[in-house]
Formats: sequence, structure tokens, C-alpha cells
Amino acid sequence: MKTNSISFQSMCVGSSPDTTTTKPHQLPIFATSSFVFDNAQDSIDIFTGQSTGHVYSRYANPTIDSVAAKIAALEGFDLEEEVFGLMTSSGMSAISGLILGLCKSGDKILTQGNLYGGTTELFAKLFQGLNIHPIFADLTNLDILKQALEENPDVKVIYLETPSNPTLACVDLTAIAEIAKSHGVTTIIDNTFCTPYLQRPLTHGIDYVIHSTTKYLNGHGNSIAGIIIGRKNESFHQIWQVMKLAGTNCNPWDAWLTNNGLKTLTLRMDKHSSNAMKLAQYLENHDKISLVNYNGLESHPFHEVAKKQMAQFGGMLSFEVPNGASGAIRFMDNLKIATQAPTLGDVDTLVLHPMTSSHLNVDPDLRSRNGITDGLVRMSVGIENVEDLLADVDAALQAL
Ligand SMILES: *Cc1c(COP(=O)(O)O)cnc(C)c1O
Repeated sequence: MKTNSISFQSMCVGSSPDTTTTKPHQLPIFATSSFVFDNAQDSIDIFTGQSTGHVYSRYANPTIDSVAAKIAALEGFDLEEEVFGLMTSSGMSAISGLILGLCKSGDKILTQGNLYGGTTELFAKLFQGLNIHPIFADLTNLDILKQALEENPDVKVIYLETPSNPTLACVDLTAIAEIAKSHGVTTIIDNTFCTPYLQRPLTHGIDYVIHSTTKYLNGHGNSIAGIIIGRKNESFHQIWQVMKLAGTNCNPWDAWLTNNGLKTLTLRMDKHSSNAMKLAQYLENHDKISLVNYNGLESHPFHEVAKKQMAQFGGMLSFEVPNGASGAIRFMDNLKIATQAPTLGDVDTLVLHPMTSSHLNVDPDLRSRNGITDGLVRMSVGIENVEDLLADVDAALQAL
């Protein structure tokens, strides 16, 4: 009979043997909360920063780090400098973590009125209460931007979204980055709508990029996560520390799903963009549609700015159907292929009525000043056969 050095019970409790012989082709999921030290000195070296090593998955985890490094490399594709990426539990925690890492009480955030609804709420409700006040201004007008900076010397960051949700208004990244630099102000952009395949803000001189990877980077609607990306400078440690202490880290499973989606990013974005262009052209020529917001249309007020900084025009568009909110709701209920779901950037086509969903909690006045009218429908155009999408929209409009 074999004599074991440990008991049956302890064998159950202990770890299983490491059977890795060759490197895995695909990224493994490290489902572990902590990592093992070889000895006490190893632990001391890692905790004191003498050597690098994983400690605890809230601090960092190999699966998450790998995906973060890949997305950071895509955003920093044109740069010589080293770029970091920190994946977070959501797009919102990427935004809140980055602001908390850069700002302190008394600082101000200069931003636009037309942001993702959750971001407007975060700034107006949470950060305002922490004495980090947002200033909402029309940053498509550079004179307004310069004046706001002159009048508010305590502006610490400029927070941008281009194209913005849901009217696709654009701001000029190169021009804003230059003005910000001359005032010593840090710039942040939410690049969720474009992904680094269509727009790389760091190349235009922007300091930090955030994403809701929940959207196009994953593309399949099966995870919630975010990422903070920037040049590796002295702020990096502070931003990482906020993630660690506020506990806003991503989890390995969601990072892994994001990586699966990333593999087809360029194929998806090409198809999203060409499908959206065809739908936008169709809608622009439809007599029941009074307005189409799509950056690829020459009629769009921000077409020229978009063309300057975007490789293609992406999959997001919005348009005005007749009879206000009731018309918009009837149109959406008539659709058969497009799904009503409050997200965007998935492979399938999604529609949403901003007034009664994503922008419900945004001040009605701010809403209407930014073109979010009662009859506006937002469409995240998927990668289906475009003829099916055109037929679906056509039938839904005919039944109005
Ligand atoms: C969805 C979204 C967010 C928020 O991201 P979550 O992953 O839902 O937290 C931020 N900005 C934009 C543009 C978004 O579409």
C-alpha cells in the first residue's frame, strides 16, 4: 500500500498539481483572488515594490492585465511613448476612478452638455457633492472653451466625448488638446463610440482615454467593463491606487470575454460603419424623417471635424420620427429585426428612445439644448445583412 505523507482530508483542501507543459494558445482565465509567495522574503520584496509580482486580484490579475495591455497598445498604436491600460469594473468606474485620481476638492471639470447620460449624472450629482464642480459648456465652439478656461482658473480637467451621444456632435481633438496644454489643463476623452480602430485621441495630443468596453470593444453584449488608458507618467500610480482602494477592478471573466470580442474588432467596425452609412442615406431621403444625425452624411454639421479625426464614421446614428415621443415609441414597436435594449455596440441592431431611457434623468432643459428631442430615436446599427435592416425600418415607417 502507498504511503501518503499527508492525509486524505488535507489532500482535498490542497491545490491541484500544475500540469502546464506548453503555453496555452488562448489567454487563460486566472480565477484566483490571490497569488502565492515563494517565501516570506518574496512577499516582503513584492509588497515593498523591490520586485514585481501579482499579489491580490483587486490590485492586478494576469488575465485582466493582458487584455488591458492589448487595448492600451491599440490606443497607443501611433505613439513612441509607453502607454498604460487599467481595466475597471465598468465604463462608469473608469470615468469616476480617473477623475478621482486626477482631481481634488475645489478642482473643476470643464465638459459638454451632450455626454453619455450616466456621465452627466455622475458629474452633476456625485462629483458636485464632493466639491469637484462640472461646468457644462458648448465645446464645439473654441471661443467658448477659451473663455471658460480664462474665467475658471481652477479647471483641472477637460472631459470630452466625440462623437457624442446621441446626436453625434463632434469636438476638434487636436485644437482642444493644444488649448488645454497652453493652460496646463489635463484632457480626457470617452472613446467608446469609435474604438481605437476609428479614432486614436492620444495621437491628437489628448492625455487620457476611457472606454466602456461593454460596448464595441467587446461587441457581443455579454460583459460589463471599462478601461483607463494614458501615457505612463507620474499620475499612473495615483490612478491605479484609486482602482485598488475604491475596489473598482475588472474581473478576469469579463476581461476574457472582452478579449474574445477584440479579435474581430476591425471586421465588426468596418461592417457597422458601412451598414450605418447605408441606413443614414436611406433615412435622409425618407419623407417622414425630418432629421438624421450621422457623421458620415455631408449634411451633418460636424461632418468635416469627424472626417479629420475618424477613419470611418461608426455604427451610431439617431433620427427624428414624426409625432414626438408617441411616434418614436410606435416606430420602435413596429421594428422586427432591431431589438429594443438600452446598450450599444453589439453585433445586432439596437434601438432606444433617449428621452424615456438613457437621458430620462438628465435635466429636460439640458436635454433639449443638446438636441435630444422627444421624437429622437437612437440606433446602434449592427452587422446584419443591410438589406434586412433597410426593409425592417422601411416597414416600421410605413406603418406610422
Ligand atoms: C455605456 C457607456 C458608458 C458607461 O459604461 P458602463 O460600462 O455601462 O459603465 C460611458 N460612456 C459611453 C459613451 C457609453 O456608451
